[in-house]
Amino acid sequence: MFSIIRAPFFAISLSLLSAAAYGVPGTIAFTGARIIDGTEMPAIENGVLISIDGRITSVGPAASVTIPDDAEIVDLQGKTIIPGLINTHGHVGQVLGLESGHYDRGNVLRQLALYARYGITMVNSLGDDEYEGFQIRNDLNPYSLNYSRLMVAGPVLAPATIEQAVRAVNGVADQNADFIKIRVDDNLGRTAKMPSEIYQTIADESQERGIPLAVHAYNLEDAKATLAAGADFIAHSVRDQEVDQEFIDALIDNQVCYTPTLTREVSTFVYESEPEFFSDPFFTQEVDAEIMTTLRSPERQTRVRNSETAQHYKNHALPMAMRNLKTLADAGVNVVMGTDSGPAARFQGYFEHLEMRMMVDAGMSPLEVIRSATSVAAQCLGLEELGTLEEGKWADIVVLDRNPLDDIDNTKSLSDVWIAGNRVPRN
Ligand SMILES: [Zn+2]
Repeated sequence: MFSIIRAPFFAISLSLLSAAAYGVPGTIAFTGARIIDGTEMPAIENGVLISIDGRITSVGPAASVTIPDDAEIVDLQGKTIIPGLINTHGHVGQVLGLESGHYDRGNVLRQLALYARYGITMVNSLGDDEYEGFQIRNDLNPYSLNYSRLMVAGPVLAPATIEQAVRAVNGVADQNADFIKIRVDDNLGRTAKMPSEIYQTIADESQERGIPLAVHAYNLEDAKATLAAGADFIAHSVRDQEVDQEFIDALIDNQVCYTPTLTREVSTFVYESEPEFFSDPFFTQEVDAEIMTTLRSPERQTRVRNSETAQHYKNHALPMAMRNLKTLADAGVNVVMGTDSGPAARFQGYFEHLEMRMMVDAGMSPLEVIRSATSVAAQCLGLEELGTLEEGKWADIVVLDRNPLDDIDNTKSLSDVWIAGNRVPRN
């Protein structure tokens, strides 16, 4: 289906040229599936979705969609499709095995492919992005995508002075970073916290340059203060105390999204013993046995068990994060799926599915969680062409054997992933 006949469908000649150069995906009719389109509409049973050159041109019940004569038919009878999943807080390229400091083009691409095989078709990398990551982001070609789309933030900014803050923001802004990322956290009292005049300067400069500011915070007080300073995205759960109405109002009034990253907390303590997911084929199929062996070592497990911080995250931070998630979701805050996966032992791809499970455990419905990882996430990241299975959007599609509305764990019954009409190769 790499027919040149499809070329006239492109509105602008530039697209036509790249399409011809890379081989366009052609016309595909996905038939027979239950379609959960990422909006609040009920699922379409026995739906048809038409993708032409990577874009959705038509979607609806079988009776209402005409299948073009030249379409390649992908029969999905009995299956369910959802939009490609969006991780609003991930990281790429630094870790190899369990060791950081391996950033290069190959490692970024390898990890984006891993995300894609798990159905994560867009990753917002919130920090530690280097030159190659920006290049990959810049060069993304939708007509040949077989790895996850990428957004980058550059380094996490930690300037010591106002002057450095101005320079740092402008430095990453000049590279067209998608986000500015900062941390306002003293790591349970072990490090210095960024002073308010520094983050206020960063917020002002980011706004001046038109780049959204993502804030890592731990305390309610810091989350509120950075919102007041102009933060655009809250990159972790509030974990020290219950959120209050003032915080809810600030999030809603400023249309700021909040990502819980529950699995970030899990990663701090779960290796104190053998994690349940070590026996999940959906996990083991993509993870080196050697990594699991290292994480299983009794010395390592003892260290985690005896770590005061790990136990604090387990017994205080995570339960508080889950309570706050329920409160914020019920209050109508835009909660979006994000994991902080990418650092060692925060497994890219798998942790996003674990995160969605935990969001349901915290009290969100499976549909709310799917929307938090698709349409709401896209809206929060300003991605108008992603997040739903609607006419005009990119055909980023996750095919599932079972219905995730029945059980969110069914997102793991993943049989195929498509990005812009390209089928992502299986491992
Ligand atoms: Zn992070």
